[in-house]
Amino acid sequence: MDLSKLLLTAMGMQPEDVAIEDFSFDCESLSASITIRQDRAGAVCPKCEEPIYGVRQWRKKQLLGVPLGAFLRVQIIFYQLQGACGRCLKHRLAQAQFIHSSLKQMTTAFAEYCGRWMEETTCAAVGRMTGCSTMSLWRLDQRRMREMKKSFVLPTDLPVALMSADEVHMYTQRPIEQRFDKSAWKKKFVTNLVCYDLAKVLTNAKGRSERSLTSCLTQLPKELLERVKFIAVDMHDGFIKAAQKHCPNAQVAVDRFHVAENLNGAFDKVRKAEFEAAKANKDLFQREMLMPTKRFILMERKKHLSDKDQGRLDKLRRLNQNIHSAMLLIEYFHRILDKKTVQQFRKGLKLWEELVVESELTPFIDFLKTVKKYQDRIEVYIRSHLTTAVSEGINNKIKVLKRVGYTYTNESSFQHKILQRCGLLNSQNIDTANWFWHAT
Ligand SMILES: [Zn+2]
Repeated sequence: MDLSKLLLTAMGMQPEDVAIEDFSFDCESLSASITIRQDRAGAVCPKCEEPIYGVRQWRKKQLLGVPLGAFLRVQIIFYQLQGACGRCLKHRLAQAQFIHSSLKQMTTAFAEYCGRWMEETTCAAVGRMTGCSTMSLWRLDQRRMREMKKSFVLPTDLPVALMSADEVHMYTQRPIEQRFDKSAWKKKFVTNLVCYDLAKVLTNAKGRSERSLTSCLTQLPKELLERVKFIAVDMHDGFIKAAQKHCPNAQVAVDRFHVAENLNGAFDKVRKAEFEAAKANKDLFQREMLMPTKRFILMERKKHLSDKDQGRLDKLRRLNQNIHSAMLLIEYFHRILDKKTVQQFRKGLKLWEELVVESELTPFIDFLKTVKKYQDRIEVYIRSHLTTAVSEGINNKIKVLKRVGYTYTNESSFQHKILQRCGLLNSQNIDTANWFWHAT
């Protein structure tokens, strides 16, 4: 039995290239230190792979090693050969593949171990677990995702019959000199192409224009695009145009998730106007109920309110006619979207239209116009009997990504992170087993 072979391989090294000289461990701090020396005979130049001769010295290096059982912190003291290369005519450090090529303080095994953890949790959490700095881990994660993206090709047997395109907000740029001027803020978005049956993001692109969706779709091979039967998009002409152009056999629909977003937007405008009015009238009760932080009491569709909150809500609705009408309009509109057939939907919509006109609430009149404009697309959605669970799930996951430890100001790193966590850009789908032993 050759246990040192097992140990060296587990640490990401080739047993014939190095030898263990010494080790020590401490069971209380769960740490181990292993001294390793490079083999003279096998040493080659890292550039041309010619053998190195005229060895002058050993260079001592300290590396982070992959955890070994209970020893969570493993330090590797590595003596690396330095000698002359006959072809390059230079003094070089001999090749050591187990040193990570860009993060030279760690071994490839440690890097891949941390990399796989970062597919599941934040850099900061992995930093606490391994004792490595968050910044190094962040750089490692970025690099790993870029490497994966380079070699990744979408499989051609994906179930792409049902797709949806969703935009997510990335961050808002606030120029320093116009910090308080909302009109000068620039919102940055990323558009994701989602596969319903896998519930995964397949591709994404920056922005939220026709070009963004075109870029998402054209990353898919033609044969996949031809198999798309149904694609759900936002109420947005650019998206509809791009979807029609690139998915020749697909029906383009506007799905409930996006309609509901717009509907909630209309309600929030009414709430804001009434909030301002209550402030002006010094109406304390209404002011408190209409505060932005109380929005969920008013907007939540399936209400799980305490008796106290329910009582206050009923009181507000008795006092404020506009809020009462707006809430009725929302409840009623959701009931129309629940309809099983297009005939029922049309009938319901006609009635709803009358209610909107009667209410004289401008945000809802605007929303009605949008709905009328995209009515046939919404009807495609009603016919499809799809649910919004997938879009909602992915959007929530991305919101959490934004909140948990990451403030993304760089589109491509945000895009990669979405593909890693909500898509196929990870070791579940890409084979990175040999990254434990080889620098990429
Ligand atoms: Zn050389």
